Amino acid sequence: MQKCSKCSKNAVTFRPYSGEYLCKSCFTKSIEVRVKRAIASHKMLRDEDKIAVGLSGGKDSVVLLHILKRIEEKFPNSSLVAITIDEGISGYREQSIEIAKKNASALNIPHKIFTFKGIFGCTIDEIMQNEHVKELGASACAFCGSLRRRALNQKARELGASKLAVGHNLDDEAQSILLNVFRSDIHRLARLLQDTSAKNENFVPRIKPLRTIPERETILYAYYKGIEFHSQQCPYSFNVLRGEIESTLNRLDDKRPGIKYGVLKFLDDLAPALRNYCTDSDFTECEQCGEPSSGKQCNVCKLLSELSQK
Ligand code: SF4
Ligand code: ZN
Ligand code: ZN
Repeated sequence: MQKCSKCSKNAVTFRPYSGEYLCKSCFTKSIEVRVKRAIASHKMLRDEDKIAVGLSGGKDSVVLLHILKRIEEKFPNSSLVAITIDEGISGYREQSIEIAKKNASALNIPHKIFTFKGIFGCTIDEIMQNEHVKELGASACAFCGSLRRRALNQKARELGASKLAVGHNLDDEAQSILLNVFRSDIHRLARLLQDTSAKNENFVPRIKPLRTIPERETILYAYYKGIEFHSQQCPYSFNVLRGEIESTLNRLDDKRPGIKYGVLKFLDDLAPALRNYCTDSDFTECEQCGEPSSGKQCNVCKLLSELSQK
């Protein structure tokens, strides 16, 4: 039996990218240390922050909630609130909401649930039944991603949060970086940067404390800590390009461990140049709804106007 590289206990896992064997307690501790380091190095949080956590009930968001709770306890002036957005995906969301509720209540964190129906007047299931959307062949994720981002920002703002924490892990970040490179979308690439200064008073800065934690390790953390999470796949999850990038990155990472960290470092090294190129004036207000937007009409208003085409 391999011994832990940090202590003398039996190892339970191996990290190919660092060559470390780790026991259960050194592994979970190392995840918490890395999350704290990511928070500190990108100045994600201040002592007095009210942190809204996007809680879907999936592995990343529940792990994030548990780790932030441990961190927040040491800062008496900060507080946490969990926000769950119910997109209206029948047979899928109901169970994840129950798991989100259980986690928030076990940690004694106030939990607010909002629905697409209440905010936008329609569910994702209804959007996908819309004749015009069917004709366009648009993916559910194109609507869902933009509407959820909007809903989270709006509700975090209404709850008086100064930061919005989301559970994106290293794999999500590396995929998003390459996705924007392949789409030649430099503005969206710049939006992946950890920028905690508000670019617009209606915009709650989004932080990603798990951005250096590989997906496999968030699952292991949940498993070793006995954290319950929702693991069912969304029935609409079908993004061809992202899926291809994901499998390519995983294949490359098997041969050259650490390649995902290389992609993330590339973005971080590019940060000063990207900030220069995409200035704050790129952020304005949507003429229709007044929410933060990169153009005269925000993406959400554009998408919702598609629904009234027929
Ligand atoms: Fe929404 Fe797509 Fe995620 Fe499903 S997979 S919850 S449709 S973004
Ligand atoms: Zn150990
Ligand atoms: Zn708008």
